[in-house]
Amino acid sequence: DAPPPFANEPPWDWTQSQVRRDFQQALTKVRTSFPVKVPLMVGGQKITGDREFASTNPNDMREVVGHVASAGRREVQEAIRAAKEAFAAWRDTAPRDRAAYLFKAAQIARSQRFELAALQVFEVGKSWKEADADVCEAIDFLEYYGREMIRLGTPQRMGHVPGEMSHLFYEPRGVAAVIAPWNFPLAISTGMTSAALVTGNTVVYKPSSLSPVIGWRMVRLFEEAGLPSGVLNFVPGPGSVVGDILVSHPDVAMIAFTGSKDVGLNILQRAHETAPSASMIKNVVLELGGKNAIIVDADADLDEAVVHVLQSAFGYQGQKCSACSRLIVLEENYDKFIARLKAAAESLELGPVEDPKNLMGAVIDASAKAKVLEYIQVGRSEGKVLVERSFGDPNGHYVPLVIFTDIQPHHRLAQEEIFGPVLSVLKVSSFDEALDVANGTPYALTGAVFSRSPENIDKAKRAFRVGNLYINRGCTGAIVGRHPFGGFKMSGIGSKAGGPDYLLQFMVPRNVVENT
Ligand code: NAP
Repeated sequence: DAPPPFANEPPWDWTQSQVRRDFQQALTKVRTSFPVKVPLMVGGQKITGDREFASTNPNDMREVVGHVASAGRREVQEAIRAAKEAFAAWRDTAPRDRAAYLFKAAQIARSQRFELAALQVFEVGKSWKEADADVCEAIDFLEYYGREMIRLGTPQRMGHVPGEMSHLFYEPRGVAAVIAPWNFPLAISTGMTSAALVTGNTVVYKPSSLSPVIGWRMVRLFEEAGLPSGVLNFVPGPGSVVGDILVSHPDVAMIAFTGSKDVGLNILQRAHETAPSASMIKNVVLELGGKNAIIVDADADLDEAVVHVLQSAFGYQGQKCSACSRLIVLEENYDKFIARLKAAAESLELGPVEDPKNLMGAVIDASAKAKVLEYIQVGRSEGKVLVERSFGDPNGHYVPLVIFTDIQPHHRLAQEEIFGPVLSVLKVSSFDEALDVANGTPYALTGAVFSRSPENIDKAKRAFRVGNLYINRGCTGAIVGRHPFGGFKMSGIGSKAGGPDYLLQFMVPRNVVENT
């Protein structure tokens, strides 16, 4: 039977006191499971070795969320072998049957929504609402890609020449390596993994070393859905070891990577240094960083813009590839807007995210903290501090929320991805200049424009060259199926996640012509 039409998973309504009480209970329950013991999974076998690493709570690093088995060279090679052995049978499983595993996993995730979100509050420091949004997005990917595969799984008749039957159809590539980041720890891992699986590839999945417990929960969703052994293998461990072997192994047919530009470019280079024993050229999908801007036009609704700018810049501590890190303001309204922005930023609640009143907590780890603090120092020399709000305590990786003004387009603060709660404001004298500044970085991921002028809105649609442009709303929060997501230039290669072309990159097209 055809599944019902795709619909997005609705987020919880946090104004309901019952929802808040249930979530509080989930936090307490999840905490009692710490430290979670996380094994590797190779060919259906759970392996715990003597090498382990700890995953800790960024808001209080004394809390150990999990002890995680760390894969070495041998385990990664075994995982690739297991995936290779499982490939033929999985490839020959009907697309509809593969999709059924995704629908089952979605159903299981739905029944565990509170727990899956609660774990994110502890392991990666997401606020309640952001954690819930990540779980909803993961469920959306499962439901959306399942339906997409059913659509693409039917061979297409090409041409109508009498005596000839020509069909175009898609086949999986082979073993896919999925290398994921920590910032959307369930959603992005589930998106890349489910796309690879439903198209008929077998997977070796490496979670970020900063969110391996959530990565393991994803693997368990598929395990509970009954996925055959060897089809999905799990190898947490350092990127420099596990990632490196996955990227260069001759039996890996494709790599789906989401993460930083530098690591992504390095992967691209190494993946294409094809080993003499390789039997295929690897396909590499890269979803990388951004240096996203919001333009506030002279006639913008300023109150509306303030709310969206703050959410886009500081939601999840600015640790989103889509986050707003540049604010470009037309001079007519500059003073008025900046005064309102300052007042609003000063009224935000900040602190540990276990408390739902806080918009923003700690950043992910010590090295993220050091990097953000370094950029704040650079900002002091390049611009002027408009807002600086320090908070938190030494047990967590807290950095101040900072807004700089007087930043120039060539400044490091206007060019480099910071990935933290630092917003740079640039003043411009015309809408055309605003567009030039907005486009003037190596990235092209997201952007937004607040304007009431139909002419400027039209101009922005044509000339604000980013993968995802939003008019009169913030630049984060893409929704699967509604806002296919991804960038170009240095923001990545490949088609958009949560969109109708995404699955094609995980397959090869074939054409069979029969004279009848
Ligand atoms: P990252 O440091 O590049 O790490 C991403 C993944 O790559 C992790 O699993 C990491 O493993 C692994 N890795 C590290 N070194 C490797 C190597 N030499 N070979 C192979 N794999 C390696 O990025 P992140 O800090 O997790 O994520 C933040 C970045 O992701 C930001 O730049 C953000 O903009 C980007 N991002 C982009 C999108 C998008 O859709 N465009 C979405 C989310 C995030 P370890 O954890 O073990 O180091």
